[in-house]
Amino acid sequence: MRRLLVAGNWKMNGSLSFTAELISGVAARASHAAGQNPPNYDILVCPPAPYLGLAVEQSNSQSVSIAVGAQNVSSHLKGAFTGETSLPMIADLGCEYVLLGHSERREYYQESDVLVAEKFSACRSFDSSLVPVLCVGESLEEREAGKTEIVVARQIQAVLGKVGIAGFKGAVIAYEPVWAIGTGKTASPEEAQLVHEFIRNLLRDHDAKVAEEIQLLYGGSVKPDNAEQLFAQTDIDGGLIGGASLDVESFAGICEAAQKLA
Ligand code: PEP
Repeated sequence: MRRLLVAGNWKMNGSLSFTAELISGVAARASHAAGQNPPNYDILVCPPAPYLGLAVEQSNSQSVSIAVGAQNVSSHLKGAFTGETSLPMIADLGCEYVLLGHSERREYYQESDVLVAEKFSACRSFDSSLVPVLCVGESLEEREAGKTEIVVARQIQAVLGKVGIAGFKGAVIAYEPVWAIGTGKTASPEEAQLVHEFIRNLLRDHDAKVAEEIQLLYGGSVKPDNAEQLFAQTDIDGGLIGGASLDVESFAGICEAAQKLA
């Protein structure tokens, strides 16, 4: 049985005080909703790099476990790469996850499939306990041209070609249709399920166990009022949440949907 994962991508938002308040607020709500037991799903927050250390510290002082992840990382482990953050640095801070290939990185910073695969590979060979969250998804134009599966398969194949199916063991994939990110448009649960099923089958062709165990998240305008229906789909194991992760009430509401289902 796969656990659900509710992950918040803060993008370039937040501050020191926001980081402390959001994490303690979400932990308090999640703890209350779970009652005596620990939550039966996982929570992850991905703040901007300058706040990762504080986020880890703040998470460690809560009664509920909240993992911290980086939003991006260099494919190089160290050296003359001004402005970059390395895998050893984020691991040193206590991060447990790293987002790779978010559509905003692909679009605004020209991250190619090859570069994303290099980052994924670096992550796997650096420290197998640091979980890569590979983001994939098609644009509106690609969806309308009937190319959703082609695009998603291409993005995943690039990584498979580099790390093989073994590299996906314990990793996470987030399917985020670009047309649904920050637009208020959500893929219907059925539309999202179809793509998630496609991804799991693609992995199953390589290794049934890895495919069965991998957490596949949906991302794109997930809110408290649509989370439960999305997460209830057979192949959707939680969400990667942008806008709604910036507010205790809405992120906690999404966590509560996971708590109900898990
Ligand atoms: C995201 O950027 O990963 C995302 C899913 O954003 P939003 O929830 O705001 O659509």
